[in-house]
Amino acid sequence: MEHLEEMYARMGIGKQVYEYGEAVSERLAPRFREIDRIGEYNQMKVIGAMQDCRVSEACMLGTTGYGYNDLGRDTLEAVYAGIFHTEDALVRPQITCGTHALALALMSNLRPGDELLSPVGKPYDTLEEVIGIRPSRGSLAEYGITYRQVDLLPDGSFDYESIRAALNERTRLVTIQRSKGYQTRPTLSVKRIGELIAFIKGIRPEVLCMVDNCYGEFVETMEPGDVGADMTVGSLIKNPGGGLAPIGGYIAGRKDCVENAAFRLTSPGLGKEVGASLGVLKDFYQGIFLAPTVTASALKGAVFAANLYEPLGFGVVPDAKESRHDIIQAITFGTPEGVIAFCQGIQAAAPVDSHVTPEPWDMPGYDAEVIMAAGAFVSGSSIELSADGPMKPPYAVYFQGGLTWFHARLGILKSLQTLVDRGIVSAERLCAAASDPGIR
Ligand SMILES: *Cc1c(COP(=O)(O)O)cnc(C)c1O
Repeated sequence: MEHLEEMYARMGIGKQVYEYGEAVSERLAPRFREIDRIGEYNQMKVIGAMQDCRVSEACMLGTTGYGYNDLGRDTLEAVYAGIFHTEDALVRPQITCGTHALALALMSNLRPGDELLSPVGKPYDTLEEVIGIRPSRGSLAEYGITYRQVDLLPDGSFDYESIRAALNERTRLVTIQRSKGYQTRPTLSVKRIGELIAFIKGIRPEVLCMVDNCYGEFVETMEPGDVGADMTVGSLIKNPGGGLAPIGGYIAGRKDCVENAAFRLTSPGLGKEVGASLGVLKDFYQGIFLAPTVTASALKGAVFAANLYEPLGFGVVPDAKESRHDIIQAITFGTPEGVIAFCQGIQAAAPVDSHVTPEPWDMPGYDAEVIMAAGAFVSGSSIELSADGPMKPPYAVYFQGGLTWFHARLGILKSLQTLVDRGIVSAERLCAAASDPGIR
């Protein structure tokens, strides 16, 4: 389609990058069909839950003040519980982000003297201060809650023997991070999370299992609640907000766990009864309604990026062929210049702020400088096309999102074009990758 090529040329994509992208896209058609089927399944799940909960026009209206009897808020929480197959859910604009949702779930369900265990290695960077791995004011450590960690084995499997040894009479809660975050370990499938939970409950049935579900929602047909998680926790400015939620987090799980979290978020005694939804409910409802489609678009972007960059000789996790359990794609460039070029390319393809140039900076909560690219409608929304890379070896970028597959595709092509323009990827290398019949 010549007109399309012209349009891409106008967007700054040269002929060679365009044609390479076309070849990669063509090969991915069967995989994209599979992604669409999962999206379709999840769309039914969401609509079904909305119908079961009798979502009505009145639910779109918000409350102010205390927020007693907020029909839309209470119904939305029932919808989330329906989608995640849990007894209850807390879905609030007062939960400011994913870290806050996780901190809330932990701090409200742990008591002094308890121990927290991560059997899947180091948790997400921002949780280090929540737990007190890096000392911080108000951390779990300051409240006398200890922490233990069992790393994954070198091949990515669970170290069952060490997990058995780490579980003790003080272990109260186990935190399982589904997505890899800023690590190069594989992301856990819901099935594997289920196996881990079954193992833990087999030894200590009373231990609570919490899953950090950030970036994992709607990538598979199952969610952690389907395989025994007591709490599933995430951010609304990632997958379940569908790019429309302007703020928010959720905790879906066992009734008592959710109640603990509500008592901590508002106040003992008040719990879920207060918390005005202001004007965000329509965005929350529309966001969760669109989330399966948006997640499918982001997933296509991730698969496309892996298949574009792997033949060029860059390390990609997950690799080009692997099955997907979250929307994050890690690409290792090995040099700061590669990370910067990639992120600046993503930025240049954005609908908002395409004219600004991202640079590495000292972000709160992270221990190295980070470069972040995002031209987002909702500030910081990482279900929108965005990329970030800590400026430390192995110099990898973590890339995710795209509210639409077409935008994701443009952004990824633009990133490659930037690498080509700066001589980080040579024309010969591009040529060799394009003609390699071995790539899928
Ligand atoms: C994004 C993320 C978090 C933290 O969420 P924020 O909204 O950035 O605070 C926690 N865990 C994982 C795996 C994440 O991807």
